[in-house]
Amino acid sequence: MKIGDIARATLDCFRPPSAESVSEWADRNRVLTSKSAEPGPWKTARAPYQKEIMDAFTEQGIWKVVVMSSAQVGKTDMTLNMIGRSIDLDPGPMLFVGPSEEYMEKFSRERLSDNIAASPVLRRKVHEAKSRDGGNTLLNKSFPGGFLALTGANSPAGLAGRPIQKLFMDEVDRMPVSAGTEGDPLMLAQERTVTFFNRKIVLTSTPTDKGASRIEKEFVHGTQEEWCVECKHCRTFHELVFEDIRFEKEMTHQGEYQQWTVKSVVWRCPGCHGTMDELEVKRARARWIPRNPRAREDGVRSFHLNAFLSPWGKWKDICKLFLDSKDDANLLKTFYNLQLGKSFELRTETGVPEALFERRERYAAEVPDGVLALTMGIDTQDNRLEYEVVGWGRFEESWGIKRGVIPGRADEEGTWEKLDELLDRVWLLKNGKGLKIAVAFIDSGGHYTEEIYNGCRARLNKRIFPVKGNNKDDGPLVRLSKTQKTTRKGLNLFILNVFAGKEAVLYNSGVTQPGPRYMHYPDSEEAGYDLEYFRGLISEQRVLQEARGNRAARYVWEQTYRRNEPLDMRNYARAAFKGFDFNLAAAEERLYGGKKIVPAPPKDAPKKPRGRISAGIKV
Ligand SMILES: [Zn+2]
Repeated sequence: MKIGDIARATLDCFRPPSAESVSEWADRNRVLTSKSAEPGPWKTARAPYQKEIMDAFTEQGIWKVVVMSSAQVGKTDMTLNMIGRSIDLDPGPMLFVGPSEEYMEKFSRERLSDNIAASPVLRRKVHEAKSRDGGNTLLNKSFPGGFLALTGANSPAGLAGRPIQKLFMDEVDRMPVSAGTEGDPLMLAQERTVTFFNRKIVLTSTPTDKGASRIEKEFVHGTQEEWCVECKHCRTFHELVFEDIRFEKEMTHQGEYQQWTVKSVVWRCPGCHGTMDELEVKRARARWIPRNPRAREDGVRSFHLNAFLSPWGKWKDICKLFLDSKDDANLLKTFYNLQLGKSFELRTETGVPEALFERRERYAAEVPDGVLALTMGIDTQDNRLEYEVVGWGRFEESWGIKRGVIPGRADEEGTWEKLDELLDRVWLLKNGKGLKIAVAFIDSGGHYTEEIYNGCRARLNKRIFPVKGNNKDDGPLVRLSKTQKTTRKGLNLFILNVFAGKEAVLYNSGVTQPGPRYMHYPDSEEAGYDLEYFRGLISEQRVLQEARGNRAARYVWEQTYRRNEPLDMRNYARAAFKGFDFNLAAAEERLYGGKKIVPAPPKDAPKKPRGRISAGIKV
């Protein structure tokens, strides 16, 4: 530090902190660049709910601000305003933590640098430091009286170190459970602020799973404020919850796809049952109302926002998104997290083995009416292959066709000959028409990877493909591996997101009404669906592991029954169906002469013109 800096820093100690709030500062100084959706001077009034969240940052006695929200409510902009005001009026050591270092580099390049360059006051201060000591890099911005370091929660080195007065953490629910081996990144980063009596911590995130969500836990410990809108009829203020959103919908079929259209959306006041449309709600008087006001004395204010309140979210789009997501556990979870800003409670109620066994049906033929395509899932064991042939109809309604065991090892020719018999045969419908297995996925983990690769390569025309599990619980359900190794070998290796797949199978096993996602099973000796099969099918579940020591709470898979091959086989068979674009309309034409034989429209389809949707959706 040079003499001038010390003098200035000393002077800063005696200067009272500016009275200007973050929203006032932003209205005066912040400029949105052309990369923004709405370039030009910042206006807090554009999204009025932002004012109090931002101003809580400089509120006397408040040391922690928590924002649990949907995507696209402007939380990054709010954080940038808090940072901007700090650089300009109240500088000090600051740290901004995101889920990973790559995330922060991208953030720095795409949002922060632009934001600094666009606001003259920030440009001058950050630039000043740059020319003086070159102290500005992508992950470190210095300015007179302080610095802003950026780091990822995956970097223990970035989280340890100098004391920090102001800490910003974004997407805390997407941070790793532990920073390297050092422990919970939230705790590590917050520890660095304890020496400052005037510390400020800002935590923001869209939530994830109920019980494992960090932001939800933080939200509960704060004031739990909801943005409440004044009803034009009864003049009372109400939280805008999804349950009070009512919409008219219509379903049409586009070939094999169902298409939802949302005709109109209104909000119905839970007090007087009067309705208001989107524009009226967004223009109505509104204010934050805390559920847990006492937490203000502890200095923690927490806010929740959903997409219905955002000027950037259109109600029709959100409702359509719900309709498109409601039949798929994975999509529905994303809808809860990113649109409602709510954590998602995993449906743990799967089928009960005995109940599933009891509900087996007599099929009128080997392949019952409704089936439009067949796939096969094969689980590889050291001394045998276990397989299941599954029929698929519209809306993922499925029919177990046959399960069985091929004794022998995957490196024996005899084993593959038996597999060929299954792949070559025609499976018959009641009307005499037939189907072959369209795609088969065989597990290539285990001891015979090379043999399985070779076996599949020799059978390209039979569309049997090796599949490998990705156990990281990320990425799409199925994708084609494009590594050098597989490309060079001319191998069509598919990568399966095992957990997402299992979650969907288990979810489907709990569907109790024939129709979308319902799983049918045959009641015949030869088909092989014994009680053992059903025990294996629902042999795993996701359970919440409580936080322990410095490890955050998280969901883990627990095996409840040892023989889990049926779940794996069904997971592979489903992936084989979901991984390809089947032309179901053409299959319907060929197999049933275009006659609609499927109980296609879901039971909540457009009988009633107006539907009330419940947050605790059961499909
Ligand atoms: Zn009312």
